[in-house]
Amino acid sequence: MLEEKILVNSDFFIKTIQEYNDRANKVKIINSVHNDETLKDISIYLRIRPLMPNENEINSFETCFPNKNNPYKAHIYEPTFRFDDKPIIKSQSFDFDYVFGPNDDNKVVYEHSIHNIVEISLAGALGVVLCYGQTGSGKTFTINGIEEYLALDLFNKMDKVINDMNLKSLETFNERPFEIKISFFEILGNQCYDLLNNKEEIFIMEDKFRNIAIKGLQEYDCITADELLKYINIGFSHRRTKPTQKNDTSSRSHAICQIRIHNTVINQANDGIIYLVDLAGSERHAECIQARTLATMGLKQHIHIPFRNSVLTKLLKETFDIESCTRPCTTIFIANVSPNCLDYSHTLNTLRYSSPLKVTQKKGYDPL
Ligand code: ADP
Ligand code: MG
Repeated sequence: MLEEKILVNSDFFIKTIQEYNDRANKVKIINSVHNDETLKDISIYLRIRPLMPNENEINSFETCFPNKNNPYKAHIYEPTFRFDDKPIIKSQSFDFDYVFGPNDDNKVVYEHSIHNIVEISLAGALGVVLCYGQTGSGKTFTINGIEEYLALDLFNKMDKVINDMNLKSLETFNERPFEIKISFFEILGNQCYDLLNNKEEIFIMEDKFRNIAIKGLQEYDCITADELLKYINIGFSHRRTKPTQKNDTSSRSHAICQIRIHNTVINQANDGIIYLVDLAGSERHAECIQARTLATMGLKQHIHIPFRNSVLTKLLKETFDIESCTRPCTTIFIANVSPNCLDYSHTLNTLRYSSPLKVTQKKGYDPL
């Protein structure tokens, strides 16, 4: 077995990877033009989780690292064998809008990647955060973890907008300038279930004008950040299956938290919407991410993308199908990967189809 062979040679691999990685970190950065604060229509972040304690026990080692001097680069080292069975390392590097390493917590991830979409959603835009990657790579840890920061940030920014608007006169009407509504559902195959309403089946429909409506979905009003968080956590708890249950639905289903921001003062064309999406295990969504990558590269004509067939791509058509974008939409992809040598091929696969999503063009939305 290749896995056993890799673990048997772990001393060699650890030492060699360390040497390679030290060298990679020493390479001078020339002309690196990046701007974290730039709001683009899509951004792609990589998050490499730490090696977990149970992985350490079995002699596992890390194969994927952020560059210490260039936060936009990740290195991956393939532990492999020559024709004569001599162990060797093959190294590759990939570029992202930012690479989060094992020491970066959810707060750092939130502050570097997500916070921008809160502002645009208050102005009526669509903001999508999508975590994807192999099962066990940290998708739920990321999405669930950043929600706390998002909820607080959303309500803080809302207060700021209200202050700036000087809405004193409104008080007499006893009206709230923003209404925040949350819903949380999961997509399992082509079926959708409401995670905040006893897993009742709901239906994602498209009218003849291609507007999306979700039939049967319960929305809940949130007056405070705490209330918003309460619903988010209830949704997550309903998604989780018992650890003893063999058929873990969380690796087969997409979980989608929808936060709708209705401005009751300005007559905006659209409500702002934030979608926080925890995608099913990588095997099942690679197709739509790859399709988006090719579209980004201008190669869409070479592939057939079944947007109409999948509930997820229908719902998030602004993200997956550039042409159907009729309103300002910003998507943040977070590719989650495991550094574990035994997950090497999954990690490489995720890096390969994610990195080309990094685009340099800037899209100019008017911030509030
Ligand atoms: P996924 O949702 O992709 O299947 P999880 O989010 O459930 O994976 O993560 C798998 C395990 O790894 C969990 O025990 C989680 O707590 C842990 N984990 C994931 N990412 C991190 C991280 N960045 N730091 C610490 N622990 C993490
Ligand atoms: Mg999960």
